[in-house]
Amino acid sequence: MTVQIETHASAPFGMSRVLARIIRATDIAPRMRRVTLGGEGLQPLLGNVLPADALKLYLPLPGEKGFMPKMFDLLGRSPQHHLRAYTIRHFNPDALELDIDVFLHGNTPGSVWARAVQAEEQVGFIGPRHDFQPPTHAAWYLLAGDESALPAIASIVESLPAGTQADVFIEVEDAADELPIETQAKANIQWLHRGKSTTHQSKLLETAIRSSTAHTGDGYCWVAGESGVVRGIRNYLQNERRLNKKAINALGYWKHS
Ligand SMILES: Cc1cc2nc3c(=O)[nH]c(=O)nc-3n(C[C@H](O)[C@H](O)[C@H](O)COP(=O)(O)OP(=O)(O)OC[C@H]3O[C@@H](n4cnc5c(N)ncnc54)[C@H](O)[C@@H]3O)c2cc1C
Repeated sequence: MTVQIETHASAPFGMSRVLARIIRATDIAPRMRRVTLGGEGLQPLLGNVLPADALKLYLPLPGEKGFMPKMFDLLGRSPQHHLRAYTIRHFNPDALELDIDVFLHGNTPGSVWARAVQAEEQVGFIGPRHDFQPPTHAAWYLLAGDESALPAIASIVESLPAGTQADVFIEVEDAADELPIETQAKANIQWLHRGKSTTHQSKLLETAIRSSTAHTGDGYCWVAGESGVVRGIRNYLQNERRLNKKAINALGYWKHS
């Protein structure tokens, strides 16, 4: 049986429009760049940021110097302007700053923007959207994804209560892409290295999940990454492991084209 999966890249983010500025941008791994946004514009996020929350950034076109408030009105009307979804990796309410970690995977609008962005530039986004809402009674977690989901998975794992059982599968190119994840949970974190093969053809995540021990009791699975890869994992969890639909949140964070 094939399970339909929503491509979250096109799912609604709500209409809270936030105008912020770039504080800094630094490489935290060879292919991951952390961009810190800040300013009074982040006030609406106070008390409203959960693990794995995402926002949608408006990327300026080449030649445009940062974000202009009028760009909010271009939403959905300017095919040239790009909107890209990124996860809030950290939110610091005291400093009014948030980090997004951008996977640099080519000469794409998101990667080009993250490499070139300068402190003090204005930036606009909509959100946040809550992407991780597990049942309160989950006795165990299964979390899996590629680099696009790494910021979300890291923020989820760090938020889990002490002693919570979590099986975590993260696919990256090689060991240089592994990032520190601090947690009090009983997390078994497996970094899977795909080398130079392409993400959308990789079976590493599904194979690792298939070989992992199935836990008893109520649990919760959160999987994100390339849509086709995520669909395969969701089919397995639902049809072969026989997990309840409600115990699986499988999100297509990007689509191979
Ligand atoms: C809710 C949500 C949260 C997300 N959080 C993050 C995050 O925190 N960090 C992050 O880096 N990404 C995140 N993503 C994924 C990100 O939005 C997509 O990868 C997006 O396509 C990147 O835009 P781009 O301009 O780089 O590439 P696009 O212009 O969208 O695509 C250009 C080409 O690159 C390919 N491509 C796109 N993404 C990837 C990828 N990850 N790996 C390999 N090839 C790719 C496409 O298939 C296409 O061929 C998130 C997505 C969603 C929906």
